[in-house]
Amino acid sequence: MDTSIQAAIGSIRQQIAKAEQEFERGEGSVTLLAVSKTRPAEDIQAAFDAGQRCFGENYVDEAVKKIDQLAHLPIEWHCIGPLQSNKTRHVAGRFDWFHALDRLKIAERLNAQRPAELAPLNVCIQINLDDEASKSGIQPADAETFIASLQHLKRLKVRGLMVIPKPRDTFEAQRAALAHIRELQQRLSARFALDTLSMGMTDDMRAAIAEGSTMVRVGTAIFGARNYATP
Ligand SMILES: *Cc1c(COP(=O)(O)O)cnc(C)c1O
Repeated sequence: MDTSIQAAIGSIRQQIAKAEQEFERGEGSVTLLAVSKTRPAEDIQAAFDAGQRCFGENYVDEAVKKIDQLAHLPIEWHCIGPLQSNKTRHVAGRFDWFHALDRLKIAERLNAQRPAELAPLNVCIQINLDDEASKSGIQPADAETFIASLQHLKRLKVRGLMVIPKPRDTFEAQRAALAHIRELQQRLSARFALDTLSMGMTDDMRAAIAEGSTMVRVGTAIFGARNYATP
């Protein structure tokens, strides 16, 4: 067993618990999603042995191999990366969550392809916080109309918002940016039943918890730096 992964999971859990207390979030209100992209199945097994149950993957082909390898474990699989329409069937069939929904066409395909024997696919709407033309996500001003357009898709369950902000140097700057997402989620909650804010990564986890995140997506702090050459 990889004791460094175990130790890292323990340390992140402590940091989450501390931030929950500091910012008067309910105990246990923040879920840790371990982002295992580029990592082998053995690393996921090590994290699982440390009690971790939710794992996030970005690349569908890579993820499906690991899901097969680890099919004997009760893991909750989250697809957190952008999705091309020719890969939707794998996400609909193999995952529990999709965090990066920003196109109606993808939503319609996931809805049509979600197998009848599975619960509806949990989805988060990705918001483009920093208005970067190159990044995925929908504009905050378009979020309400977009979520309304998904209501007839009964095989999807819209759980909330997801954001990948651009890097910011200080806790205060991170917090100020993420506050916009918290406010948007609160506004949308008047009309839709949302219970998830997928927000916070290794470098802005504490600020995200301060601003209401319910799910932090942490890769580097658990598994170490990624080597993209050998996924
Ligand atoms: C890779 C990735 C993460 C994890 O980032 P770290 O900085 O390694 O914690 C979280 N969310 C998304 C969408 C990612 O692609």
